[in-house]
Amino acid sequence: MMQQPFESAIDLPFNWKSLDGQFELDGPLSDPGGAGVFVLLVGSTLLLTAEGTLPQQLPVADGVLPLYIGRWQGQPCRAVRLPGGQDYGNSLSAFELQADEPQLPLALLSLGALAQQLLRWEKNSTYCATCGGRCDWNGDGWGRQCGDCQRHHFPHLHPCVIVLVRRGEELLLVRKANWVPGRYSLVAGFVDSGECLEEAVEREVMEETGVRVKNIRYIGSQSWPFPSQIMAGFVAEYAGGEVKIQESELEDGGWFACDNLPKLPARRSIARFLIDHYGRPTDMSAKE
Ligand SMILES: [Zn+2]
Repeated sequence: MMQQPFESAIDLPFNWKSLDGQFELDGPLSDPGGAGVFVLLVGSTLLLTAEGTLPQQLPVADGVLPLYIGRWQGQPCRAVRLPGGQDYGNSLSAFELQADEPQLPLALLSLGALAQQLLRWEKNSTYCATCGGRCDWNGDGWGRQCGDCQRHHFPHLHPCVIVLVRRGEELLLVRKANWVPGRYSLVAGFVDSGECLEEAVEREVMEETGVRVKNIRYIGSQSWPFPSQIMAGFVAEYAGGEVKIQESELEDGGWFACDNLPKLPARRSIARFLIDHYGRPTDMSAKE
């Protein structure tokens, strides 16, 4: 399931490459009709057959509206959100998409997460944000258009930055109160209006920890469909300041020796990718 560690950021789960060429995205108006496979989602849980494949039948007789999203292994593929709290029969197995160690092939994990993201966009774009009119699919992509004011709407992606800050042989790590006990990760946050990515890195590190950074270098990115982020990963060097944690956001944070790190994020995240590839003692001696 999880390659350990991932060689390049582009190989991380949820990026298109993880679909391994098995899925071809298409717009919801392009449904060719006929049989196909279903991406069945209950919240962030994906339901698969006992053989670990996408089911070809719906487990409910009515009350759901499948959304065509493209082709999986050449077959028409439709995403369906099922209500929770129901028994969908013992022929289906449930897999949590947000698990630290998802028990799914990467392609199905990424497909399930993508389907969840598309279903969320469908739900959140039913009504026009400008005038409240009803929106319909438009053209052959994922855009929608308001039937009243004619405004076009497109899927919302939220850019975020995440940064590994190094000081000699130490890494700057932080933790939020709602994380798994003892787990630390990297400073991260949403890009503000008017900011470039590097400015967002500088601001987030300063806001969360009071530390100044320099030599900000872009490494790679990861699609993070919980709910719709695109994570841009950076490394940076310490440039000054004492650690002062932003108590409204964080529970703890500080410098950790890179050969004695606390519990870290799962390997499926770009946070761990950055630590695995740029946070080792050998990297510290090779100063740029
Ligand atoms: Zn409108």
